[in-house]
Amino acid sequence: MTKNETSWKRRHFLQGSLIGAGTVISSTSETTVAADAAADTPEITEEVDVLVVGGGTAGTIAAIQAGRLGAKTLLVERNSQLGGTMTTGGVAFPGLFDAWGKQIIAGIGWELVRESVELDEGELPDFAKVPQRHWHNQVYTNQFLYAILCEEKCAAAGVAIAYYEFPRSVTRVGERWQVDCVGFGTQRRVLCRQIVDCTGGAEVVGLLGYPRLREEERQPGSFLYMLGEAHEPGRNQIHRLYVHGADSSNSRTATAANLAGRRSILEKVRREKKRLMHLQPETGFRESYRIEGETMVTVHDYTSGRHFDDAISYAFYPVDLHTREGVKPAPLKPGVVPTIPLRALVPKGSRDLLVAGRCLGSDRLANSGLRVQASCMGMGQAAGAAAALAAGAGSTPLEVPLAELHATLREHGQIVPERA
Ligand SMILES: Cc1cc2nc3c(=O)[nH]c(=O)nc-3n(C[C@H](O)[C@H](O)[C@H](O)COP(=O)(O)OP(=O)(O)OC[C@H]3O[C@@H](n4cnc5c(N)ncnc54)[C@H](O)[C@@H]3O)c2cc1C
Repeated sequence: MTKNETSWKRRHFLQGSLIGAGTVISSTSETTVAADAAADTPEITEEVDVLVVGGGTAGTIAAIQAGRLGAKTLLVERNSQLGGTMTTGGVAFPGLFDAWGKQIIAGIGWELVRESVELDEGELPDFAKVPQRHWHNQVYTNQFLYAILCEEKCAAAGVAIAYYEFPRSVTRVGERWQVDCVGFGTQRRVLCRQIVDCTGGAEVVGLLGYPRLREEERQPGSFLYMLGEAHEPGRNQIHRLYVHGADSSNSRTATAANLAGRRSILEKVRREKKRLMHLQPETGFRESYRIEGETMVTVHDYTSGRHFDDAISYAFYPVDLHTREGVKPAPLKPGVVPTIPLRALVPKGSRDLLVAGRCLGSDRLANSGLRVQASCMGMGQAAGAAAALAAGAGSTPLEVPLAELHATLREHGQIVPERA
């Protein structure tokens, strides 16, 4: 534990324990879920420093970072596992951690990816080499191992996980948020200082009524499946079938996307007379709502590699907009490495609220590059740190001194953008 962490823990945090994610006791042959005192209690009230909503690509990293800083952290995820699009969507091919021959994103996201590849005896790219095609340096990752390692790291960081739950209402009560979550058999009232919305579609931001942007026609989603050959986790790409019109905005549109995707796969099975060997449980959604941020990253900012004054992370990927005609990635010019400003994670006019992941404040084309997994992880770590520091200081993320945020991120292994 770093000096920063210890002193910070001493100074600031709420006492008491949460209903832990780490209650699974395993032996070689079987797994026992330890009885939880609150398991039969339908109504729970708890206080935390940081509430992360959405345990996907960005949210898991945000929660681990906040937990490692000693913040009492709860991670609410409406599905049954962590990883989001990387695991439930099956897109376990994170990019890009490198640009022009060197690593530009590291930290907790890289730690998780690296450890899952090593445990799986897979291959890590050599970032010293500039690849011919951008995806050559994306990392084949075992989605199943990745999801379990996320849980292990949450438990080690003291992050409590609440699966199958989502916020129903969010209100301001004095200096805190009151977030009423619902799950089957559970109603949970969370009082927290900071919220990090990592739902992909900025759903908490929507509940609070802050403006969000959404295109009339969004990029297609994709259903991931394997026909005729087995999926070898961490070794091969899963086949992808476009689901045009896929919309993750609400349960009705998401249901429609899943039904349409599975219907198309069934047609394919009948047409091609091949065995269905693998099918992810839901559509991977590329695009839904983005926030109107205090800063909006434009495609010009992105393709020119603008260094924002409040840059908290690098990003790197071609501009990558999928349409009905397919996708033609537009690579960045040699030497260009975009940055992500903290203010693009702050919904305009809000306080004590951040987003991380694909819903950051950005125009559509910038977003088509910024939405990739390594960039989401970078944002997640920065948002988790900013939220934890703000909770500890009784301030809001934009009041956290940037130098303190940068120093904290560096201490936790992240690469922070520096001026050339
Ligand atoms: C088909 C497809 C292919 C892609 N290919 C690549 C690729 O090869 N490499 C790459 O790097 N990137 C790729 N991307 C982009 C990248 O995967 C996503 O943009 C990124 O993973 C999004 O991360 P996120 O954290 O914003 O959202 P997600 O990872 O989707 O996480 C959001 C999480 O929030 C949860 N959630 C949502 N709403 C609520 C709620 N109200 N309450 C509680 N929980 C909630 C969800 O269940 C989910 O777990 C691809 C995307 C798609 C869809």
